[in-house]
Amino acid sequence: MLAGIRLVSEAAELAARRHLGQRRKGRGSEPYINHLAEVANLLATATNGDDAELVAAGWLHDTVEDTETTRKELAGKFGERVASLVAEVTDDMNLPKAQRRQKQIEDAPHKSPGAKLIKIADKISNIRARIVKRPNKKQRDDLADYVAFSEKVVAGCRGTNARLDAEFDEAVKAASRVL
Ligand code: ZN
Repeated sequence: MLAGIRLVSEAAELAARRHLGQRRKGRGSEPYINHLAEVANLLATATNGDDAELVAAGWLHDTVEDTETTRKELAGKFGERVASLVAEVTDDMNLPKAQRRQKQIEDAPHKSPGAKLIKIADKISNIRARIVKRPNKKQRDDLADYVAFSEKVVAGCRGTNARLDAEFDEAVKAASRVL
């Protein structure tokens, strides 16, 4: 088991390499790593830096879904808990989008506490990225749709970390100001 700072640092490096060249949806089409940094930092802040495995899983949370990375590789490099946290927040990309969304909503209440926090942090970051100044109709519709979906997922994740819950509510409020 790697010690805390090294675990987080190696997770960040692997995530940066694996997501190389990918861009995220929304504001400025930022490099994908900006999303991972935001999620990891939300988790680190919300838990006061007390859970290195959770922060490492935050860096890695999209690697199995979006890159050539397997749960087995993560377990070997970062340990079973990190691998299992990532697996818990990985969608089955063989399913169509509507079914993936429905499954996220239904499964959320049954996730481990750490996976619930990653889910909330992910939704905060994705909502923030969709908030742009003077959105056009398509951007507004996309934001409204994503906020409504996120609220359903987060409803099943609340109660583990008050700070993160409040941060999510802030993001929804910020979204409602441009909708
Ligand atoms: Zn994500």
